[in-house]
Amino acid sequence: MLRDMMPRFDLYQPDSLEGALDLAGRLGENGWLVGGGQDSWDWLKNRTRHTGAVIDLSGIAALKGVREANGGIEIGALTTLTEVENDPLVRERYALLAAAAGRVASPQIRNAGTLGGNLCQDTRCWYYRGGVDCYRAGGNTCYADTPEGQNREHAIFGASRCVAVTPSDTANALAALDASMVIHSRSGERVVSAPEFFVGPDVNIRRMNVLEPGDILTAVRIPGTWARAHFYFEKVADRAAWDFALLSISAALRLEGETVRDARLVCGAAACVPYRLTASERALVGSARSDEVIAKAAGQAADGATTLQFNQFKIPLLQNLVRRAIKGAGGSAT
Ligand SMILES: Cc1cc2nc3c(=O)[nH]c(=O)nc-3n(C[C@H](O)[C@H](O)[C@H](O)COP(=O)(O)OP(=O)(O)OC[C@H]3O[C@@H](n4cnc5c(N)ncnc54)[C@H](O)[C@@H]3O)c2cc1C
Ligand code: SF4
Repeated sequence: MLRDMMPRFDLYQPDSLEGALDLAGRLGENGWLVGGGQDSWDWLKNRTRHTGAVIDLSGIAALKGVREANGGIEIGALTTLTEVENDPLVRERYALLAAAAGRVASPQIRNAGTLGGNLCQDTRCWYYRGGVDCYRAGGNTCYADTPEGQNREHAIFGASRCVAVTPSDTANALAALDASMVIHSRSGERVVSAPEFFVGPDVNIRRMNVLEPGDILTAVRIPGTWARAHFYFEKVADRAAWDFALLSISAALRLEGETVRDARLVCGAAACVPYRLTASERALVGSARSDEVIAKAAGQAADGATTLQFNQFKIPLLQNLVRRAIKGAGGSAT
């Protein structure tokens, strides 16, 4: 007889946002939201997390698709990553996001995984995913930040006891595009900017975003300001597919001739949140993309970084990514 079964949970499959909000509000911390399940099922199948109830959002048509909104676009949180990557509006205006979505995991995971799930997924620190009692899991130590800890993937910016990084590729692209997140709960709607949405361990060490029990991320809005800008996306990982970033760069530049009028440089897998390289941006804005300016901006990319035992390689890698991003930013994203 098979005894090692995944613990049972109640499965709810609402077909309207109102139904989902009612369930999420009533179940609170006992209700686990699921989009495509590509992060959630791992937790539950590995028995590192348990839940009494799963709220499957995939039947809510109103939360899917890309539409025009206020000069920009709005993307439903339940839109799959494949749909984001291939959508004509996204490709034509925000090629940066299409490129980032297209570099997530593998085609199979992108077919099932949703934009909302990608943004709300939990960190991939292997100690934490393995179920240890570290700070992020409610304990009183960090297993990665020790002399022997395996911390090659971990943070160089913004650590505070926990040194885990954001695993989401699309989060960094959306931060570079000044996107905002639309959140619904039983008490109504609120819209928060990307920097407000993602939280570091200094704000809350137990979670990676501002969502409270009962909240549902319903859409992402991208303003028209960065439409058709010069973009660059590059993700460095150990494997070309089916792998998380060791570091990534999302760049958006507004050019007038060769002069940079505005810039966003956001790196992924460097901090617990999408990390904006403001010193490099400042070095760039108002100047032409000359070798000298690019070298200055790249040289400042790692200002304020602190490395761990095994992730010093991220410093020169980040500087090289910034150099390539500024030089390479063009009409398409890569
Ligand atoms: C082998 C493997 C490789 C991967 N590689 C990458 C990678 O390279 N890059 C990358 O970015 N990701 C990667 N992922 C992570 C992840 O599976 C995918 O990014 C996917 O997009 C998650 O989306 P989902 O809809 O399946 O998430 P789900 O598992 O459904 O949800 C993820 C989390 O978000 C919450 N959530 C989902 N939807 C909402 C919502 N609308 N409102 C509020 N909360 C919500 C869930 O409660 C859960 O906590 C990988 C996963 C695996 C298994
Ligand atoms: S880095 Fe964060 S998630 Fe990983 S072991 Fe340390 S406290 Fe836990």
